[in-house]
Amino acid sequence: MERPSVRKTPAQRKRAAQLLAALRRRYPEARCALEASAPHELLIATILSAQATDASVNKATPALFRTFPTVAAFAAATPADIEPFVRTINFWRNKSRAIVETAQALHRDFGGQVPRNMDALLTLRGVARKTANVVLGNAFDMQEGVVVDTHVARLSKRMRLTRHTDPVKVERDLMALFAPSSWCELSHLLIAHGRAVCKARGETCAQDSICQRFCRSARSADPAASTRRRTSRTRIRR
Ligand code: SF4
Repeated sequence: MERPSVRKTPAQRKRAAQLLAALRRRYPEARCALEASAPHELLIATILSAQATDASVNKATPALFRTFPTVAAFAAATPADIEPFVRTINFWRNKSRAIVETAQALHRDFGGQVPRNMDALLTLRGVARKTANVVLGNAFDMQEGVVVDTHVARLSKRMRLTRHTDPVKVERDLMALFAPSSWCELSHLLIAHGRAVCKARGETCAQDSICQRFCRSARSADPAASTRRRTSRTRIRR
């Protein structure tokens, strides 16, 4: 996939490359947290992970994948067959239906294989750009885009990689800043830093070397306070 035409300066790209290098040094083991041994398993695990924790998905999927070992087995199932395995995961009823309909579409339209392109993946029920990026990047090593989940969106804003909160716009900014070869890895690295250091409430601000170098909020113990200060400065200027 080509980089989008969002303008970024050489200085912004250099800073992005420095952040990437620092994150790589800190989190050399960062990888997809969802456990799967085939592309269709990763697709199903990713559908299950929407608004749920990866840990809760990893707890449920071994029995699910043992019982339905192939795309054909999922396609022949009913949502009621899937439900007992995923009841511990948010929105299990809708997700059970999405899994069966997705498997049926794979079986019917794609020869039982997970398609290796974004447009085809987006035709599947329960698959939006984020899920498609997870599958393409991690199952096929294809750098089509950057997975923007809640951690990636939060860190990208706090580290001034984007001004946006809309995931599609955040992804465009990240794709413009970082080399395509790093897109899949980048999301794992940002998620790792989000989980280890940059929690939603920013408790560990100011104590971390990556934060001190790349995030203004590191000067404050409370990133929300920085945001409030910036907002009030903006108001005063008006
Ligand atoms: S300084 Fe705080 S807000 Fe910024 S990345 Fe680090 S933990 Fe997150």
